[in-house]
Amino acid sequence: MTQSKIRIALIRGDGIGVDVSDAALAVAEAALGKTSGVRLSYNEILAGAGYFTETGRDIEPGGEEAAGKADAIFLGAIGLPAIRHPDGTEISPHLRLRDIYQLYAGIRPVRAYPNAPQRLADPRAQEIDLVILRESTEGLFYSAAVHGRSEIINNEEVRDVLRITRATTEKLHRFGFELARKRKARGNKGRLTCVDKANVFTSMAFFRRIYDEIADQYDDVETDYNYVDAQALDLIRRPWDFDVLVTENMFGDILSDLAGGLVGGMGMAACAEIGDETGLFQPAHGSAPDIMGQDKANPLAAILSVVLMLEYLADKTGQASLLDSASLIDAAINRGFADNRLRPVEFGGDMGTAAITSELLSLL
Ligand code: ATP
Repeated sequence: MTQSKIRIALIRGDGIGVDVSDAALAVAEAALGKTSGVRLSYNEILAGAGYFTETGRDIEPGGEEAAGKADAIFLGAIGLPAIRHPDGTEISPHLRLRDIYQLYAGIRPVRAYPNAPQRLADPRAQEIDLVILRESTEGLFYSAAVHGRSEIINNEEVRDVLRITRATTEKLHRFGFELARKRKARGNKGRLTCVDKANVFTSMAFFRRIYDEIADQYDDVETDYNYVDAQALDLIRRPWDFDVLVTENMFGDILSDLAGGLVGGMGMAACAEIGDETGLFQPAHGSAPDIMGQDKANPLAAILSVVLMLEYLADKTGQASLLDSASLIDAAINRGFADNRLRPVEFGGDMGTAAITSELLSLL
């Protein structure tokens, strides 16, 4: 087996971000040790609210460039509500990384695990296994306050623009069809649902038209459409029927929280943000100051984000053994829940961050 190193830019960040990063990377190292000759090397970048308090900067000098030079970026969590800029906004250097590296493809897997809380009484809720693909650079977030693009008319009116570009939307839909195709090869449905509001907005009709254009190149992937309001209903009524949902930024933001709630909570919510050059992997939760330093954080969202990172790196570097490492972790989590060996405090269980991590290491 060839020995090669993959460079990870590591931003542990604030609060539970530090603990869950350490847990996730310990699990990654163990899985790589079992399945491949690949080793990770880390370039730690200091950033976040704690760093801001100490230095007056939200990321270390040269941190953004350094992050872009790695093969992937792994981030724990950033921000603490008590530490803010003078205008009231929180410390968010990761939003700049998203913008600088155009990380358009936001992947949020939503999957039911045995013995984890299920919010729906219908037994088919056990079968929930879908991915929300949220465009992450434009849409209504084009006008997010951080960018200063809102049109403010005296104290009477504010206009935010929802921007859909052909260039990004083509890439997004292509990404969605490729993802659905890969999932089909693994036994999932192989269907990409375009979630929009094409019956009302010209921008959304454009989004759907581009979806149709790209769909012509993917005969093997089933196409499907849903208006976003109906999609919200269907995520409660029949979430087990969906595979990959592709959607505009704001719609994806809302639907992914709803879907995350269906399968437990934030401690299971993994996230990848992928662009043409690099990808950023982080749990979808924040720094959780209410539980930080208490060994209560569920590290599984971070660990599942590592799974996404290894899959991405397998594609990017052509080292297929990384896929085996990803599958090994995935299988260990599944088995751990099935055998009731993973009982996070978050779900009323008796296992904190350290216990979940060490149990997962023995499962590996
Ligand atoms: P942000 O705006 O940065 O996403 P937030 O304040 O909205 O952050 P979180 O920090 O994610 O939200 O916390 C929301 C709630 O979920 C808190 O009660 C927190 O304790 C809980 N929580 C978040 N992540 C985890 C985790 N990994 N394990 C257990 N509980 C968590």
